[in-house]
Amino acid sequence: MDVLREALLQAAESKQVRGLVESAPVSRAVVRRYVPGTATEDAVSACADLIGQGLTTTLDHLGEDTTDITQARAVRDAYRAVLEALSDAGLTLGGRCEVSVKLSAVGQALGPDGEKIALEHAHEICAGAAAAETTVTLDMEDHTTTDSTLSILRELRREYPWVGAVLQAYLYRTEGDCVDLANEGSRVRLCKGAYREPESVAYASKRDVDLAYVRCARTLMAGKGYPMLATHDPRLVDIGNALAVQNKRPQGSYEFQMLYGIRPNEQRRLAADGETVRVYVPYGEDWYGYFMRRLAERPANVGFFLRSLVTKK
Ligand SMILES: Cc1cc2nc3c(=O)[nH]c(=O)nc-3n(C[C@H](O)[C@H](O)[C@H](O)COP(=O)(O)OP(=O)(O)OC[C@H]3O[C@@H](n4cnc5c(N)ncnc54)[C@H](O)[C@@H]3O)c2cc1C
Repeated sequence: MDVLREALLQAAESKQVRGLVESAPVSRAVVRRYVPGTATEDAVSACADLIGQGLTTTLDHLGEDTTDITQARAVRDAYRAVLEALSDAGLTLGGRCEVSVKLSAVGQALGPDGEKIALEHAHEICAGAAAAETTVTLDMEDHTTTDSTLSILRELRREYPWVGAVLQAYLYRTEGDCVDLANEGSRVRLCKGAYREPESVAYASKRDVDLAYVRCARTLMAGKGYPMLATHDPRLVDIGNALAVQNKRPQGSYEFQMLYGIRPNEQRRLAADGETVRVYVPYGEDWYGYFMRRLAERPANVGFFLRSLVTKK
C-alpha cells in the first residue's frame, strides 16, 4: 500500500500524468465525491447545505504551484469574489464559513519575489475576509515552503491576528512549531500531512506519524490557542475528545475538521454531540493535485478510478 501511495503522490506532481488524467474520461462521480463543483455558486451552495446540517466550513479555491502572476491575481480575485458571495448569503456570520488559502496558488513560487507577491495577495484576501467578518487559514504545502509560509503568517497576523496556520504532524520540526504557536489567539490546524516528503524531514511510517500527531495535539490542547484537529482517524478524534476533557476545554474552544465527502456521518455525529466541526470544501477547475492526494490516502478508491480511466465514452 505504501508503494501505491508513493506512486500516487509522485503522480500528483507529474505534468505528464496530469495531462493524461485530466483528459481521460475520469468518472465525474469519483471527483465529485471530493469536489462539489467548479463555480463560486457551487461553493456557496455546498456551504449553505453543510451549515444547514449544523456544520461549519472552510472553502478552498483549488489551484497550487501557480507559475505566472496573472493566474496568481485570478486566484486572489476568486477568493475576494467568493467571500463577498458568502457574506451576501449571510453565511460568514460568526465565522461559520471561512476560507483556506494555498500560498503557492497566489504567487509564493514565482521566483525571488514570490514570497512578497504571495504576502500581498494573501493580505488582500484577509482584507476581504475582514469585510465579510470571517477568517482565513493558510494551508501548508510541502516542507520546502514551511518557513516561508510561517513567516507570511507572522506578517499577516500583525494586522489580522485571526489568520490560522496549518502544522503537519509528519514533519520532525512540527512539535517545536506547535510549542511556538500554542499561544493566545493563535488558530492552528493540526493535520498528518499530505505530501511526499523525504525521510530526512518527515516520519515515514503511519504509526510514527500517528504518535507525532498525538504529541502535537497534546501541546496545542494544553496551550492557550484555538486548536483545529483535522483528521478522519477515529482514534485521533477520540484522543482529541479526551484531551479536551483533560485540559478542561469547553466545546467551542477547539474544533474538529474533516474534508468534504469524507466520513460525512461522523461529521454530523460530532456536531450533534455539540462539537464545532468544520468541513474543508474545495471547489474550482484545478482539482488534479487535490484529487490525487485524496486517492493516495484511500487506495480503495484507486480501482474505481483506474477503471474509469480506461472506460470509453
Ligand atoms: C480539514 C483538513 C485540512 C487539511 N489541510 C491540509 C494542509 O493544509 N496540508 C496538508 O499537508 N494536509 C492537509 N490535510 C490532509 C491531511 O494532512 C491528511 O493527509 C488527511 O487528512 C488524511 O489523514 P487522516 O488524519 O484523515 O488519517 P488517515 O490515517 O489517512 O485516515 C483515517 C481514516 O479516515 C478515512 N479516510 C481518510 N482519507 C480518506 C479518503 N481520501 N477517502 C475516504 N476515506 C478516507 C479512512 O476511514 C481512514 O482509515 C487536511 C486535512 C483536513 C481534514
